[in-house]
Amino acid sequence: MRLIFLGPPGAGKGTQAKLLTEAYGIPQLSTGDMLRAAVAEQSDVGKRAKAVMDAGQLVSDEIVNEIVSDKIDSPECAKGFILDGYPRTVPQAVALARILEAKGLKLDAVIELKVDENALVRRIENRVTETLAAGGKVRSDDNPEAVKKRLVEYREKTAPLSDHYASTGQLQTVDGMAPVETVTAEINRILASASAAA
Ligand code: AMP
Repeated sequence: MRLIFLGPPGAGKGTQAKLLTEAYGIPQLSTGDMLRAAVAEQSDVGKRAKAVMDAGQLVSDEIVNEIVSDKIDSPECAKGFILDGYPRTVPQAVALARILEAKGLKLDAVIELKVDENALVRRIENRVTETLAAGGKVRSDDNPEAVKKRLVEYREKTAPLSDHYASTGQLQTVDGMAPVETVTAEINRILASASAAA
C-alpha cells in the first residue's frame, strides 16, 4: 500500500498515518520528521534546512526529493509507505511521479484531509500544551509566527496539489473535522476499495 496524505499543518495527517502504520505494517515517511532528525544530527542537510524550517518556510525540493527517494529504497518500505508532508508542491508531486516510475512503483491513493482553517491554530496550540504536559519538547516551528507562515506556505504552494491530483484522477477527500475514529474509518474504506481495484 503506497499512499499520500495531503492537508494543512494540524489537519491530523500525522495522527492518521500513525494509526495506519500499525494496521498495515508500513512506515510513515514524514519529511518533517526526517528533516528534524537531520537537524538534530547536525548533518549537512540539517544545517542547510534548520533556518528555513524555523521560519516556517519550505526546504528546497531538491533536498526533500532526494531524502524521500533514498528512503523508498530501504527494506522497511518493501510493503509500501505512507507519505506525510510530502509532496508539498506541484513540482515535488511531478518529481515523485518520476521517482516512482523509475522504481517501477505505483501510488494506491492520495487522501486529502479537509479542515476548517480557523480550527488549525487551535489544534496546533493544543498539540503544544499536550506535548508540554507529557514532558516532551515542543517543535521550534510550533509558535504563532511560524504557524502563520506555514499556513501561508500551505495555501500558496501546497493547496494547488489538490487540483493536481484531482486532474490525475487520484484525489480522495475526507472530512478532517470529524472525530479521529470517523476519519480513520473513512480512510480504511478508501483503502479497501483501492486494494480491490488493484
Ligand atoms: P511538518 O512536520 O510536515 O509540518 O514539516 C515541518 C517543516 O519541515 C516544514 O515547515 C518545512 O520547513 C519542512 N518540510 C517538511 N516537509 C517538506 C517538504 N515536502 N518540502 C519542503 N519542506 C518541507
